Amino acid sequence: MDYFINVILPIPLEKSFTYAITKAEADFLKPGIRVSVPFGKSKIYTALVIEIHTNAPLVYEAKEIHQILDEVPIVTTEQLKHWTWISNYYMCTLGEVMRAALPSAFILESETVISKNDEVRLNDEDLKDDEFIVYEALHHQSSLKIQDLMAILDKKNVLPVIKRLLEKNVISVQEEIYEKYKPKLVRYVKLGANYSSEKSLQNLMEDLSRAPKQRDVVMTLFSVSAQTKKPVKVSDLSLESGASSSIIKTLIDKSILEEYHIQTDRVQYDGGDNEASKHLNEHQKKALSNISESFENQNITLLHGVTSSGKTEVYVKLIEAQLDANKQVLYLLPEIALTTQLVERLQNYFGEKVAVFHSKYSSHERVEVWNNVLHNAPTAQVILGARSSVLLPFQNLGLIIVDEEHESSYKQFDPAPRYHARDTAIVLASIFNSKTLLGSATPSLESYYNAKQGKYGLVELNHRYNNVLMPDIELVDIKDKHKRKRMQGHFSDRLIEEMTETLKNNHQIILFQNRRGFSPIVECQTCGHSPQCPNCDVSLTFHQYRNQLRCHYCGYHTVMPKTCDACGSVELDSKGFGTEQVEQEAKLLFPDHNVARMDLDTTRGKYGYEKIITALEQGEIDILVGTQMLTKGLDFRNVKLVGIMNADNMLNFPDFRAHERSYQLMAQVSGRAGRTEERGKVLIQTYNPYHKILQQVSTNNYQQMFEEQLDERHIYKYPPVFRMIKITLKHKDYNRVNIGADWYARSLRTVFDAHVLGPEYPPVARIRNQYLKHILVKIPQKQSLSKTKEAIIKINNSFLSVKDFRAIRVILNVDNY
Ligand code: ADP
Ligand code: ZN
Ligand code: ZN
Repeated sequence: MDYFINVILPIPLEKSFTYAITKAEADFLKPGIRVSVPFGKSKIYTALVIEIHTNAPLVYEAKEIHQILDEVPIVTTEQLKHWTWISNYYMCTLGEVMRAALPSAFILESETVISKNDEVRLNDEDLKDDEFIVYEALHHQSSLKIQDLMAILDKKNVLPVIKRLLEKNVISVQEEIYEKYKPKLVRYVKLGANYSSEKSLQNLMEDLSRAPKQRDVVMTLFSVSAQTKKPVKVSDLSLESGASSSIIKTLIDKSILEEYHIQTDRVQYDGGDNEASKHLNEHQKKALSNISESFENQNITLLHGVTSSGKTEVYVKLIEAQLDANKQVLYLLPEIALTTQLVERLQNYFGEKVAVFHSKYSSHERVEVWNNVLHNAPTAQVILGARSSVLLPFQNLGLIIVDEEHESSYKQFDPAPRYHARDTAIVLASIFNSKTLLGSATPSLESYYNAKQGKYGLVELNHRYNNVLMPDIELVDIKDKHKRKRMQGHFSDRLIEEMTETLKNNHQIILFQNRRGFSPIVECQTCGHSPQCPNCDVSLTFHQYRNQLRCHYCGYHTVMPKTCDACGSVELDSKGFGTEQVEQEAKLLFPDHNVARMDLDTTRGKYGYEKIITALEQGEIDILVGTQMLTKGLDFRNVKLVGIMNADNMLNFPDFRAHERSYQLMAQVSGRAGRTEERGKVLIQTYNPYHKILQQVSTNNYQQMFEEQLDERHIYKYPPVFRMIKITLKHKDYNRVNIGADWYARSLRTVFDAHVLGPEYPPVARIRNQYLKHILVKIPQKQSLSKTKEAIIKINNSFLSVKDFRAIRVILNVDNY
């Protein structure tokens, strides 16, 4: 009988690929083991086995695999199930999911490299013709790839030649085509075996009396190991004894000390768990018991708890219960909130059981976390991670917590898989028959909607911990301030007053300026009005080259007006101002105080973000100016005042979620003020203090925000009432994209009719010389999502079979919001 495997290749192939294996290999292999396989003309890839069977492929002859790379599976069957769901739901290939999931050290691809074996002397007649050609070529070039050999020999199957040359020891094939994961080894020392008896030890100390430095080292070794009762690192010994490494080396050479290595993880926590979890107050206790109750008949529960209500401490109790039951817990956070602040807090409770996983980790560090999770190691019981940690190889997952579930950074936009970590986590939990807890002070509309519909359980926590009052939020009308000349740059007199007062009391200030203010929307300098699309209820964007205002959802457009539609003013501004400008102005206004800035530019590098946070915590910064980065669940003790420089550019952002997001941002950033005893103060500067969202923020009225926004989503047919799939076409030829997009949209309309929007240019219509066009498909609740996707795939396939369109890149983005 012939044996075959189906594998996932790390490239976007629609189907899995089949290779031939031997009986012995079939007995050995299991789904989740990696093999290296030839693909195409000369490529060699790392592939993942998903099925072992005896059915030869019908349309091609299965090639043989190259080698088996693992002893045991490195990917679990649960993961393979999960990946399949991701690939179906988000309309991408399994290869793309695998690429996102596996640390890159696991899937390096390479071409075999052949080099000459210099030690061997040969006579020409030892080699056959084809062998000699290769041998000759290696005199001119130190190494050759399989592809080169095929060119030199002018044939496809070069493996036999390579094999013969290898047998004759003429060449060597580089084995290290896969960058292997290298364990990190740490050097330790102990006393040499000859000195285990009392007597020999005495003799040794006498001998060493003439070498006091060496003796000191040995004495230090004794005292350190007596103290710590643990193996002693060479580095610690050198530090404690003050001895140079050459003295230690001498001792090792003399066999007085014995050197050995222990493999360690690169990222290690070496404090203990030194704190018991906190006693919950009555509100937290109630929330905890409500959550447990809700989990009795719901798999998913939303915890809606105001900022600083102590949600984290509630999570901690839930985690404890899982650890007691020997289950793993995944604690998901937006990337940016994964700071030492929270990590330390959890390590205090759970010590070395906490593993952290995020994108700033190196590939080796990721491999370590991967392996620890896979082996259910004691160091990977609570996995604290960003988006991609939903793709880890959990063994025994009991609970997933998705904190700040409303955060848009849970959605991956590029490249595929374009998954949403919250929704993907829910599916992961269900594979393990376990529960998901979503938590937020400002839940996303879709989660709250799901909770209201009874799809999720809902638990509310409305009291701040310690009865700290919600901050006092004041709206400052800058239209009026401008008119009365009460502005200095972008600062109103009210803001300056409050800042002066706060600084006088030695408290800190956060100034928030949304970076999105740079988007090309138009804003009236006099009244703050921003032209809206009549069909979509979003702001129109300014397209300079046509002097037009356009809606990037539906394509509505109009000429750029010369005067404001609302007040007739001629001062129409299409630029906006950024954090840098606010920082400069603050420095001028308060020259005796330290002003710092936190945005994408100042937080590059592995610890850029943390440095600023630490500086703020330690009181080195008086005024911190920042973007939405400031909102991510940070807990600052001494911040008393938050200033929001301009609420309007958030509210006018051209997106159907602009109002929801504005509410979330402002409520979250306000939540940074006054988290301890004293009440915090928030000033929101706006042209439009009567805007309903600002009223809702200032009265902390999430309910009303939710209901009004949901009404609008009904009226304008947006999520969560309708679902959406966004189709983006991309090509460097402007006309081709246009014609292709029209064709595509027309085909979609034959099926979905009025629920197709576009094609339309995005606000930035050309990126890296590629023109973009979007088409949106809106999906009513009654319409089957899977049937919709089938229809889109059908249209997509016919599109790509048109010769002129084949070169156009099509990007499908399910739930693109
Ligand atoms: P949230 O996540 O809801 O914004 P946190 O969990 O960060 O709130 O809690 C806010 C602050 O209150 C933190 O400093 C936390 O340590 C403290 N806190 C919360 N609950 C308790 C408790 N039960 N006992 C002592 N301190 C608590
Ligand atoms: Zn105006
Ligand atoms: Zn529109």
